[in-house]
Amino acid sequence: MSELDAARTRTAGGIRLHRVSHRYGRGPAAVNALGPVDLEVPPGEFLVLVGASGCGKSTLLRLIAGFEAATEGSIEVSGATPRPGDTAGVVFQQPRLFPWQTVGGNVELALKYAGVPREHRARRREELLTRVGLEGTAARRIWEISGGQQQRVAIARALAAETSLLLLDEPFAALDALTRERLQDDLRRVSVASGRTSVFVTHSADEAAFLGSRIVVLTRRPGRVALDLPVELPRAGVDPDDLRASKEFLDLRREVGRAVKSAAAA
Ligand code: ADP
Ligand code: MG
Repeated sequence: MSELDAARTRTAGGIRLHRVSHRYGRGPAAVNALGPVDLEVPPGEFLVLVGASGCGKSTLLRLIAGFEAATEGSIEVSGATPRPGDTAGVVFQQPRLFPWQTVGGNVELALKYAGVPREHRARRREELLTRVGLEGTAARRIWEISGGQQQRVAIARALAAETSLLLLDEPFAALDALTRERLQDDLRRVSVASGRTSVFVTHSADEAAFLGSRIVVLTRRPGRVALDLPVELPRAGVDPDDLRASKEFLDLRREVGRAVKSAAAA
């Protein structure tokens, strides 16, 4: 990495991991979950972390979010130690919404925590709901909408936080295939438009190939970088279904799938 790239990782949304390892517990029962991992992510990248179940993907994401401190090594986001709640908007596999609130209420709460003045929240809420394909649903109750729609609300809420970093941990894993594809289409579009740095965790080579501007394959536990692949597929101005049918996408998907398998076996 050049000096210029290294400097960019210190600006808003850039991530630097230096010799990061994580261990759960102590003594003979300790679990070495991750690392050592070195990673430099410049702002605006859509990084997909892919690897077999249990290889340390969620651990790495939690460390970047600041939910936990790494056992060893150092982590910087935007040039500083990550702080939970401040550093990143986070989306989990289960949407974790407030069930007693409406769709709009959930997004407005996030805007309130982000410090958006009350008089601006309604307009901003509508912008965010529109961006995730939920225009006109603000008054609906959480239990009245589908699982896919709930995950869209979770994404809108994460975007509301206005952080330069978005972290997503297998957010579409519990959805049916068709809903998952539509959410992938929308997330790809939203991420290109927002220019935010994103780190997306999945065990699916298909999802990695479709979403990533860069794909990092992790070994089995303790997860280390097995492959770090820049993606050349077009990011904008392309029909998502055409992209999925293209030879370039199918070749990439096969390459990632093979790498995940051999990294899990190694
Ligand atoms: P992934 O998200 O890739 O499936 P995780 O990061 O959740 O993997 O877990 C990596 C390893 O660390 C697994 O072996 C898991 O069982 C272990 N692990 C995760 N969280 C804890 C914890 N809180 N205490 C002990 N072991 C844990
Ligand atoms: Mg996980």
